[in-house]
Amino acid sequence: MIVIENVYVATVAGPEIPSGHLAFDGDRIVAVGPGAYEGEGERIDGRGCLATPGLVNTHHHLYQWASQGVTPDGTLFEWLTASYRLWARMDAEVVHGAATAALGWLAKSGCTTASDHHYIFPKGRGDLFDAEIQAAREVGLRFHPGRGSMDRGQSQGGLPPDEVVESGDEILAETEAAVRKYHDPSFGSMLRIAVAPCSPFSVSGRLMTESAALARSLGVRLHTHGAETLDEDEHCREQFGMLPVEYLESLGWLGPDVWLAHCVHLTDTDIRRFADTGTGTAHCPSSNGRLGAGIARVSELLRAGAPVGLGVDGAASSEMTPLAGEIRMAMLLQRARYGPDALTARQALEMATMGGARCLGREAEIGSLEPGKLADIALWRVDGFYSAIDDPVVAFAYGQTPPLARLIVGGRTVVEDGELRTVTDQAAAEGGAMAHRRLRRS
Ligand SMILES: [Zn+2]
Repeated sequence: MIVIENVYVATVAGPEIPSGHLAFDGDRIVAVGPGAYEGEGERIDGRGCLATPGLVNTHHHLYQWASQGVTPDGTLFEWLTASYRLWARMDAEVVHGAATAALGWLAKSGCTTASDHHYIFPKGRGDLFDAEIQAAREVGLRFHPGRGSMDRGQSQGGLPPDEVVESGDEILAETEAAVRKYHDPSFGSMLRIAVAPCSPFSVSGRLMTESAALARSLGVRLHTHGAETLDEDEHCREQFGMLPVEYLESLGWLGPDVWLAHCVHLTDTDIRRFADTGTGTAHCPSSNGRLGAGIARVSELLRAGAPVGLGVDGAASSEMTPLAGEIRMAMLLQRARYGPDALTARQALEMATMGGARCLGREAEIGSLEPGKLADIALWRVDGFYSAIDDPVVAFAYGQTPPLARLIVGGRTVVEDGELRTVTDQAAAEGGAMAHRRLRRS
């Protein structure tokens, strides 16, 4: 039993506890309450700290750590076109190094559960999917990698060059094999696989439909990009005679087992359909800003009752974005668009925790601090400079993110005093730098 005491607890599920305790045994939370904990157990002094549920990252492309800074001022389609040829050269070592750095960086910003979307599998370059799974095991995060895919190259009217796409049959076989090999559906699972074709402009309608059928037959979730930019609207109108969400719906891609990245350009009807079907959105405000995509209608989605989580997106379109910082970015952008009551700090924190858990289908296990849930906990130092703000949640969300005193994943300490304790900061950083060098010279 381990007990964190004298801590301000933002449970997210219920009332906050200004001075209380959190006790966990193995990977489960056993007690959350005010004052001291009566039972036995090793003590961690949480004085000066805010405890939040571990943050959930709902969208990433870990391999992109190796290609940051490419096309710093281009649109999504310009940036993608420049990036594809570089990504075609990645191998398992690049993916492992990049994933170690990216997951380490996520952990250092409070993330306990990370999803990934890996959709490029160049031939003869090792087992790229296994490489990122190994990295997640080493860093110690709960991991939801999506076996991504692209089958619609330029010769088929798609955006990517033909050299980076695979055939539909090969993709479906590899995806099924990945689910059968790695997916663990149990309570407390550290590894779950999603089926994740890349986007309407790089994947055929047939593969989208068959991917959905495959995921549903295997009982796993579906993820893809949707409605990110106006270029995509235009592409979908021209090629399919529909807007992106209408197109996705026509392919069976709305539902409680689907979460979509970005969803910046939604119509009123789309928002209603997301709420009615329980379709989740991975909101990536920094990436949307970086690529000039727009400001997503997140507060309207939340008001409608649709699940919304936060994501940093791949580092090639958001560089060194920390996940906790996306809480602030989401809040500020919603207020810039809709006014000062559009998104509160607590709503943004809920989005980063329970909202993400809902997107990943794990709301019974993670996303809030309650007895019976998994011990995925972030402890933030809100003393020192931050103590001039009375409300610890405001101190946490409004300015620069406070230091991370400790990050616990399933009862295990992954970060302490801001530094990784599973792999070292130095090893994670070097993994990322090596991946970058290897990709640039290959
Ligand atoms: Zn993305």
